[in-house]
Amino acid sequence: MTTESRSNRPQRRAGRHFLQIPGPTNVPDRILRAMDMPTIDHRGPDFQQLGREVLAGLKSVFRTGGPVVVYPASGTGAWEAALVNTLSPGDRVVMFETGHFATLWREMATRLGLDVDFVPGDWRRGVDPARLEQKLRDDRERRIKAVCVVHNETSTGVTSRIAALRAAIDRSGHPALLMVDTISSLGSIDYRHDEWGVDVTVAGSQKGLMLPPGLSFNAISDKAMAAHATARLQRSYWDWTAMLGPNATGFFPYTPATNLLYGLREAIAMLLEEGLETVFARHARHGAATRAAAAAWGLEIVAADPAEYSGSLTALMMPDGHDADRLRAVILEGFDMSLGQGLGRLKGRIFRIGHLGDFNDLTLIGTLGGVELGLARAGVPHRPGGVQAALSVLAAAPAGR
Ligand SMILES: *Cc1c(COP(=O)(O)O)cnc(C)c1O
Repeated sequence: MTTESRSNRPQRRAGRHFLQIPGPTNVPDRILRAMDMPTIDHRGPDFQQLGREVLAGLKSVFRTGGPVVVYPASGTGAWEAALVNTLSPGDRVVMFETGHFATLWREMATRLGLDVDFVPGDWRRGVDPARLEQKLRDDRERRIKAVCVVHNETSTGVTSRIAALRAAIDRSGHPALLMVDTISSLGSIDYRHDEWGVDVTVAGSQKGLMLPPGLSFNAISDKAMAAHATARLQRSYWDWTAMLGPNATGFFPYTPATNLLYGLREAIAMLLEEGLETVFARHARHGAATRAAAAAWGLEIVAADPAEYSGSLTALMMPDGHDADRLRAVILEGFDMSLGQGLGRLKGRIFRIGHLGDFNDLTLIGTLGGVELGLARAGVPHRPGGVQAALSVLAAAPAGR
């Protein structure tokens, strides 16, 4: 071997890479092992057993008694499925500018031929229940067919209060459907499809569910099924009826992502073994410790309202004149950790710490240690002591069991 080819080889880095972006998240070994299986006949009895278990188990995670459909697609596919299965060309929908993901969903809705009323926002707050109630009260002709909300805005670390939004819709007496994107909250932040009267819940595999990317979901209410019967937007691949027929016996209308479904079966088991309430409390506690670190460093966070702080990620603002992407590059190079970049209008101005998925106290301390080392190495003005502040929060409130 020549010296040249040896020097072209990437340098080995000891220890595990820290993947602390707010999704995809770290896939636990138990899930990796569960997926390490030969592919099977997706029309045979072994698959049927797997299909039945996964489709039943998902109901516990979404907290619904109704059907949950699984697509071999990223979360974006499930956004489209929610819209095309329930709405018709020209239908009015209300969406809220909470951040980058809400903006992308709105752009999709517009491209699909919907009439989107996009309520402007400052990317620091979630959806205001009073604002929603007024919108619906003002719509005397009942032209609004759906309200679409991103539960946890992954670009900002702001969590909208779905129960309060449901109550606002109920007070208005408006019949619009409620659709909620839980791609970065399901399995990490409290969420109840049935209790909160959500009509379509959109989710994805690669965040709180701890799976690789590649699966996405729609949980469907009776009211959404009724809308589906008359909805006229073009649909084929995403059609719920085509999916629900074979799902009734554990099968899929086309080749499913079998090995991801093995992983999903394991992920559901892990979430239920830990207990969903424990999972949510764990995430909330890590959010609090991360915010304590940010405050100690003297870095402002994007979320403006404590009632909307996210348990799955925290977005931190850079001091003026300092580039967040340069800081992230220094941290990746120096400490082998990936942090989330600022998206859309926040590019370069913020970085995002993902603290969701298969994540514990020591993962958090390692993550925050990497940030604190990176702030120093990159010459970003800050006070030391963020890690210590987080340790104090964790010590004061031991993880519950
Ligand atoms: C990640 C994410 C998406 C996009 O999902 P993809 O799997 O990348 O298509 C949409 N909405 C939210 C809230 C997200 O966090």
